[in-house]
Amino acid sequence: MANFYLDNKELAIQFDHPLMERIIKLRERDFAEKSAYDYAPQHHDDAIDSYRRVMELAGEICAEVIAPHAEGVDLEGPRHEGDRVSYASGTVENLKAMQAAGLDGMSLPRTYGGLNLPLVTSIMTNEMIARGDAGFQNIWGLQDCAETLNEFGSEEQKAKYLRRTVNGATWSMALTEPDVGSDLGAAMLKATWSEERNTWLLNGVKRFITNGDGDLSLVLARTEAGSSDARGLSMFVYDKQNGGVKVRRIEHKLGITGSPTCELVYTDAPAELVGDRRMGLIKYVMSLMNAARLGIGAQAVGTCEAAYREALKYAHERQQFGKAIIQFMAVSELLKEMHAKTQAVRTLLYETTRFVEIYKQLEAISKERKLESEERQELKFYSRLADGFTPMVKLFASEYANQIAYDSIQIHGGSGYMKDYACERIYRDARIMSIYEGTSQMQVVAAINAVTKGTYTEQINRYAEESYSETMQSIVARLAILKSQYESLVERVAELEAQATGFKELHARRLVESAGYLLMGYLLAREASRHAELYAESAEHFCSIAEGKLAEAHTRILNSTAEDIALYKTE
Ligand SMILES: Cc1cc2nc3c(=O)[nH]c(=O)nc-3n(C[C@H](O)[C@H](O)[C@H](O)COP(=O)(O)OP(=O)(O)OC[C@H]3O[C@@H](n4cnc5c(N)ncnc54)[C@H](O)[C@@H]3O)c2cc1C
Repeated sequence: MANFYLDNKELAIQFDHPLMERIIKLRERDFAEKSAYDYAPQHHDDAIDSYRRVMELAGEICAEVIAPHAEGVDLEGPRHEGDRVSYASGTVENLKAMQAAGLDGMSLPRTYGGLNLPLVTSIMTNEMIARGDAGFQNIWGLQDCAETLNEFGSEEQKAKYLRRTVNGATWSMALTEPDVGSDLGAAMLKATWSEERNTWLLNGVKRFITNGDGDLSLVLARTEAGSSDARGLSMFVYDKQNGGVKVRRIEHKLGITGSPTCELVYTDAPAELVGDRRMGLIKYVMSLMNAARLGIGAQAVGTCEAAYREALKYAHERQQFGKAIIQFMAVSELLKEMHAKTQAVRTLLYETTRFVEIYKQLEAISKERKLESEERQELKFYSRLADGFTPMVKLFASEYANQIAYDSIQIHGGSGYMKDYACERIYRDARIMSIYEGTSQMQVVAAINAVTKGTYTEQINRYAEESYSETMQSIVARLAILKSQYESLVERVAELEAQATGFKELHARRLVESAGYLLMGYLLAREASRHAELYAESAEHFCSIAEGKLAEAHTRILNSTAEDIALYKTE
């Protein structure tokens, strides 16, 4: 039987990472629930064993149910009937399969029926689902909303909504409005308190809402009349059973067609405030978006994997000039590049996930008891890394998904342009990934502070100090040269910015990407030191890609003059 977990060795080894020990200890609160639930792990190995078993089950569903439905779902799409949405038949089957396997709400606490699995497993599930069908990942991945409610909701809200998630309720995240996209602080959907009905009421329009007709929703709304910025926004949980929201239309899209993208009209829709007023965007939605960005990172990595595998298979099968096209260096080099990028960004995805997991668990523990001073330091350390790594992984994974899907079609030649091959759908599906959950430009805006405040440099230095296998020494030496190049680029941009405002904005993407190449270069070298058979070739290849990219950034930044600012600045 096909299995997306068992056929990809890079997934199982994530559970061998040294930080898993700390993650499990924190997640399981020193195995405090081992007597209360018969399915709670008794010790570290037991936990790892159960993660592997659940991933094997998820891997089978992704390969045997979700992937085979992808083409039909893409053709059929969801339907808009009256004010409601119905899914394509394959989507309904996918949801049933995930529910029957007990995978819904897998990371939620056991009190609410969840499995309390670490983020690494839910991210892995998202990756495998997306490899089968990126559009379905969109719907399933929105369970992030339940995680956010678990973080910030009241006990009452958690009891009410988390168990429903475990029982198969789907979510949506309603932030975007017709006039409000990247600049969410300007959201205008109105929330007013009704004394008469003893509830908050939502009024206004949300646009481009994935799974907008889902059972439950987190909604960003303006509670502070007269305000116009982020400080006037709060977050609400909305339950479809209470009515008040109509789906005005669903979008006809380029890709991820199985995932309904809805325009929603709220008319006195009752909703519950989550947490404190005014903290909606500043605290809760930022946290939700960071989780969702990691989810899109996983979606994009799954897409890279699918596109690469389709291309590899075709390159072996297709004969031209009397031989398989993989025997042409132009094709095999492209394939090696696709593979190296996929592996590189996957290492970044799981590294980021571990950082996020540790700081989130410590934050949760801080609500149960006072943290020790060492724990407080640890929280600060990982939260800083997670802030820097999350936009980085979203940026690279989504751009790579696009590049690899493009190259996959190229390798298929004319056939790749036809609907007969999966790469055509994958290419269309990939296009949205660098746009939603914050465009690539917005990821750079979020990541540039980690360049200027030194977060990336510090982490690159930590990686540089690790020990690497004999075979990786030459790669590590090449990365050390790139490291000093990167440091000089950061310094140069700071000098230019001190002379005239604008250079930092102009070169932000070059700096963030340069840091990314270095981080992924070291992560691949680290993996190749442990598993040479899986990573050594990609470490070598990716290092060459990084050298090319840093050389380009070097030329652009060192040749930069005030004329560039004049050229690109439009008032
Ligand atoms: C299929 C799909 C599904 C979606 N799902 C959801 C969902 O579930 N929930 C939800 O709330 N939203 C959803 N969205 C909305 C999505 O998050 C937004 O489309 C996205 O954030 C970009 O906003 P915008 O489309 O208004 O573009 P704009 O914000 O108008 O951006 C247009 C261009 O300007 C650039 N730009 C804007 N500001 C800056 C800046 N400060 N610096 C540099 N460049 C900038 C952008 O990078 C982009 O290239 C979805 C969108 C689509 C297409």
